[in-house]
Amino acid sequence: MGKPKIATVSLAGCFGCHMSMLDIDERIFDLVDIVDFDKSPINDIKEFSDRCLVGLIEGGCSTEENVHVLQTFRRNCDILVSVGACAITGGIPALRNGIPISECLDEAFRNGPTVYNPDGIIPCDKEIPLCLDKVYPCQQVVKIDYFLPGCPPSGDTIWEGLVALLNGKPLGFPYELIKYD
Ligand code: SF4
Repeated sequence: MGKPKIATVSLAGCFGCHMSMLDIDERIFDLVDIVDFDKSPINDIKEFSDRCLVGLIEGGCSTEENVHVLQTFRRNCDILVSVGACAITGGIPALRNGIPISECLDEAFRNGPTVYNPDGIIPCDKEIPLCLDKVYPCQQVVKIDYFLPGCPPSGDTIWEGLVALLNGKPLGFPYELIKYD
């Protein structure tokens, strides 16, 4: 039997959680001994090549494309983990949730202090992902199995969580890994 596979993605996030994944430092050598990476920005594999044991999700859903990608992860991963505040609550991108989407687009493309747009046209090419009315946490779009809180969760927290999941153990963290003071 081959090694279990893991996949990762950044939806509406800043890639800080992915940076934290790399903060497991030299343990990444232990990790690649026991798993294969499938679709992930870490290896730049764009599409799933096989079913994955674990999918790590950074960021919430701000666009239609985010929803589509998240649903693809749900279909292709046995265990889905929301990693970080943006995936769990929407995070910083969700600051727009109290403002109508039309006002957000006006500010971004028409009225913002650094905007030059004499035609006043808001970009609407079909290649551009359609913005949702607000930013949704991942668990409001698909079933999420586990949550790793933090902005970002530390490399140690991600490591402990992954090792537990890969060994079929319940997730449990010492206080030091989930305190934020
Ligand atoms: S939780 Fe923090 S580090 Fe992770 S994507 Fe959001 S803002 Fe970036």
